[in-house]
Amino acid sequence: MSPPHTVALLMAAGTGARIGGAVPKQFLSVGGEPIVARAFRALATHPAVDEVVVVTAVDQVEAMRQALDMVAPGRVRIIAGGLTRRSSVENGLHALAGNPPTRVLIHDAARPFLSAVVIDRLLAMLDRYEGAIPALPVADTLVRWDGQLGDTVDRNGLYRVQTPQAFVYDAIVAAHRLWPAGRDATDDAQMVRDSGHEVAIVAGDTMLEKITHPEDLAAAEARSERMTETRSAIGFDVHRLEGGEELWLGGVLIPHDRGLSGHSDADVALHALTDALLGTIAAGDIGTHFPPSDPQWKGAASDRFLRHAAELIEAQGGRITFVDLTLICEEPKIGPHRAAIRARIAQLLGLDENRVSIKATTTERLGFTGRGEGIAAQACATVRLPLSADAA
Ligand code: MG
Repeated sequence: MSPPHTVALLMAAGTGARIGGAVPKQFLSVGGEPIVARAFRALATHPAVDEVVVVTAVDQVEAMRQALDMVAPGRVRIIAGGLTRRSSVENGLHALAGNPPTRVLIHDAARPFLSAVVIDRLLAMLDRYEGAIPALPVADTLVRWDGQLGDTVDRNGLYRVQTPQAFVYDAIVAAHRLWPAGRDATDDAQMVRDSGHEVAIVAGDTMLEKITHPEDLAAAEARSERMTETRSAIGFDVHRLEGGEELWLGGVLIPHDRGLSGHSDADVALHALTDALLGTIAAGDIGTHFPPSDPQWKGAASDRFLRHAAELIEAQGGRITFVDLTLICEEPKIGPHRAAIRARIAQLLGLDENRVSIKATTTERLGFTGRGEGIAAQACATVRLPLSADAA
């Protein structure tokens, strides 16, 4: 039996008026990426979620595409919302009607720290209920305020409701259809309940707090920092020097009487660097991604190998913070080309040049590099990678 078709609607149509500033909050950056991108990745990487459809304001569709380009280049369905949250959800549900899912998750982009565990709990409930919501019991004392201190409100049985909310697709569609026009609805679960279904509550997560006020942004930034790990990995490569070849080192064509031979352009520096980057995400090595047996990589510029590794890191929400490269050869002398190599690698990786280190050494005429038979390269890359909300 195939698992039920599940689509997540990511609601990001707000204007962020409460947080202030001209930028809607879903586009504000936390941990170096837009809030909406983090929320998107949390949904998109859950094994039970087949697709994430983003609902945004009609004038933000292009900005949204750019904001999500890192996590899902060019393949996100983005649709325009309406004037109210309710009409935006309705537009989202309508967009799914052509290939209706069995289950739908409706999530606010302003809650970016979504763990897979919460999604698991919600979806498990849909075996028995038409809807399920995450909620946390109210811990603080609640009082009334009417110009002066009023009575304490009994917090027993009071819960704070979060998102995502999970529904049987047909039930949430029917609830929206039955809802009286003009009546406000801030919560989809209310609508499903009013249409006669029982909605389950599962344990929410304090990490799921909504980013609403400017001070929430600072807290989210600190949380993101705590949920990041630093990783370093190394790479090593050797290519043979031969006559009649071009010499490419670090993405720069260097005038020399011999060049490096190999299946691609044999840029030993970029190959070592590519392996170091792949190592930080334990994604195998350059040969895993670009097999030498594949004719399409014959003579290929190694720029693309390096960019591919960088894009894999970016897709995980990671950020390259530093690379260090050592070239090992007698000839050519690297010194005169160091600045050009550094600039080229910085450009390829989108880094400041002070985050790119280029070193060179000889082996005192010992060994194959000492005899000028080949060039070796060692690289070390350091990245910051997000831990999943579950690991933090
Ligand atoms: Mg190589």
